[in-house]
Amino acid sequence: MTRPPGAPLLAVQDLGMTFRGGVRAVDGVGFELDQAETLGLVGESGCGKSTTGRMIVRLLEPTSGGVHLNGRDITHLSQRELLPSRGDLQMIFQDPFSSLNPRQTVRQIISGPRRLLDRRQVVDLLERVGLAAEHADRFPHEFSGGQAQRIGIARALASAPKLVVCDEPVSALDVSIQAQIVNLLADLQAELGLAYLFIAHDLSVVRHMCTRVAVMYLGRIVEIGPVAALYPDPAHPYTRALLSAVPVPDPDIEATRERIVLRGDPPSPAAPPSGCSFHPRCALAQERCQVEEPALREVRGRHVACHFAEQGS
Ligand code: SF4
Repeated sequence: MTRPPGAPLLAVQDLGMTFRGGVRAVDGVGFELDQAETLGLVGESGCGKSTTGRMIVRLLEPTSGGVHLNGRDITHLSQRELLPSRGDLQMIFQDPFSSLNPRQTVRQIISGPRRLLDRRQVVDLLERVGLAAEHADRFPHEFSGGQAQRIGIARALASAPKLVVCDEPVSALDVSIQAQIVNLLADLQAELGLAYLFIAHDLSVVRHMCTRVAVMYLGRIVEIGPVAALYPDPAHPYTRALLSAVPVPDPDIEATRERIVLRGDPPSPAAPPSGCSFHPRCALAQERCQVEEPALREVRGRHVACHFAEQGS
């Protein structure tokens, strides 16, 4: 689809998902993403980052807000109406094996249900992701985890997408393989101009992959901005705690730096705390935090949802 001038590739506005029983998994999430850009989406498990990714690729229907792709509102399109945009939007999953049909050959998986690719195109895709022509007639169980993820990436590339939602694409893989897949994704982006929404809990990988990062807590974005601004100087106490757990390569700094240990577990999204939902775990919390929910506002070159973001930096 051609994009109207000025429209970003992806615009997510006030996106929300309330599951049955009133559990608000995602609440008012918004951001934009442009071609060849990577936005990292980070936070603890259960913070709503995967649900956000699934709503963007329309595996889940949002209960509020909107998703615009190439300037077109795709939020509530039927699968048929979505067809012209479908190929622009792909997803890579955390567990490569459970996302590949075990009864299909690699060729069938990559060609998709409509079998639109010929033999040469399948081989091209396999080679592009570091596999070979001879792999095309094998089944998923004949591959290692890293190879299976390469097949998942080839399948995502088959429709020449513009945006790929990568949902924890390396966290189920051996550490030794993770860097290979991250580098492959970076090379493909440089070659094809792809945009990635990179969902992860490993903040070192996000620093390597992303130009911007959004931090989610209990269904909301609490800080969003350029990696270059946020990593050296996080403004939200939650971002600060997450980043304090990331190992630093320099052993002297690593030995002396302060780790912020968060109190308790994240509260249940079924019963979020009043005011700022981070307040029961926040060392800076004051009375105002229990009653007034902070809105995202600009502080030091990023947007942050904290009444006291100017403190503690
Ligand atoms: Fe902590 Fe208050 Fe800021 Fe929330 S608004 S993060 S409780 S200081």
